Amino acid sequence: MTNEGDEMQRIDAVLVRYGEIGIKSDRVRSRYERTLVNNIERMLGFCAIPYEAVVRDFGRIFVKTRDSAAAPAVASVFGVVSTSPVQTSAATLDAMQSAAVRIVSPLLTEGKSFGIRARRTGTHDYSSKDIGEVVGGAIEKATGAPVRLSKPDVQLFIEVRAGSAYLYTEVVPGVGGLPLGTQGKVIALVSGGIDSPVAAWLMMKRGCTIVPLFFDCEPYLGDTGRQRAEAVVRALAVWAGRPLDFAVVHHGASLSEFKKLAPRMTCVLCKRMMYRIAASIAKAENAHGIVTGESIGQVASQTTQNLLAIDEASDVPVYRPLIGLDKTENIKLARRIGTYRLSTAGDSSNCTAAHRHPTTNADQEELKRYEAELLIRELSAEEAKSLAWQRVFPDKSLQWVLNPEPNPPW
Ligand code: ATP
Ligand code: MG
Repeated sequence: MTNEGDEMQRIDAVLVRYGEIGIKSDRVRSRYERTLVNNIERMLGFCAIPYEAVVRDFGRIFVKTRDSAAAPAVASVFGVVSTSPVQTSAATLDAMQSAAVRIVSPLLTEGKSFGIRARRTGTHDYSSKDIGEVVGGAIEKATGAPVRLSKPDVQLFIEVRAGSAYLYTEVVPGVGGLPLGTQGKVIALVSGGIDSPVAAWLMMKRGCTIVPLFFDCEPYLGDTGRQRAEAVVRALAVWAGRPLDFAVVHHGASLSEFKKLAPRMTCVLCKRMMYRIAASIAKAENAHGIVTGESIGQVASQTTQNLLAIDEASDVPVYRPLIGLDKTENIKLARRIGTYRLSTAGDSSNCTAAHRHPTTNADQEELKRYEAELLIRELSAEEAKSLAWQRVFPDKSLQWVLNPEPNPPW
């Protein structure tokens, strides 16, 4: 085993930093922290990482574990800003010196420099500056390595909190946001395309519980659409660290009606029907809105005129977290959250109900006339009857979505 391996073996905890929660009132903060702890425990359970406890300590959370894999796993829990595998020592200068020498010596191979960043909360008979000087001196003496203040090869952080000092060399960036479950519920329209899973994920990142909903457009779209939607919902369940209730509605019969009556309006009528049904499910499920993956002007149904026409069909707010992003930015996010590969698997056929030249400037009055002719209420009620639920569990084989490769090959 390498020296570095030895060092890894000795961690006794993972320090967890969280951001925005810290600025809430005491009562809200305490509730958010409890939710975060619970979500961290779920994630550790899902990743099968052994730990003794997850404890709150004034603005920090500590995972008591000897497994350094806990650091990246916990970094992917919504609300976490960053994590560090730490070694704990007593908060005396003597104890810190020997712990520091033990940690950095194996890392300071020939010619490498080091630096120390210390911070302190509580009452002690030394300052942060004293820590840097005393511990730095001890490392210099033991290893002969030079101190470098900016960009040293090895950066040692020392965080002293009351009676304990936490020493670490690594900071794993977290996913950020708010703990899942601290905000309300939204219905997430998930198409199996690239954008909608990203939109749903961004709402989860802000603490919302999601209810994924898919409209099955069979016979206008093959099975692949449905399979992709299921796969991305499984990936979202991994991020959530808990099962998701996935709703599927059959949309094909309505599409046939739209196509017959108003071919160039099919896409807009289709989206209005989706929104109408999603809004009714939102009410039944105590959700506060729906989330979709549109960005301005990306396709014909996403012009501002058409969004106006589509929006009107929903009587709950429609959230569009991707509205100002470019396709390349959506793809980058989709890669980061692991859904890109799932959204692009299999054949890439498009919906055959769509007209070659769909309207980009739908007229509200005209749409309403068509919908009156279609007896839209009855048609919606009929479609809503096809609603079926499926419980989707976080799937161990998709654990990779939490940490896809930096330059994934897909
Ligand atoms: P995506 O990449 O998410 O499929 P898109 O760019 O293909 O989006 P549209 O087809 O115009 O865009 O759909 C806009 C949004 O409507 C989607 O992002 C999604 O939220 C929702 N949506 C579209 N088709 C479906 C479907 N079959 N089931 C559920 N939601 C859908
Ligand atoms: Mg699509």
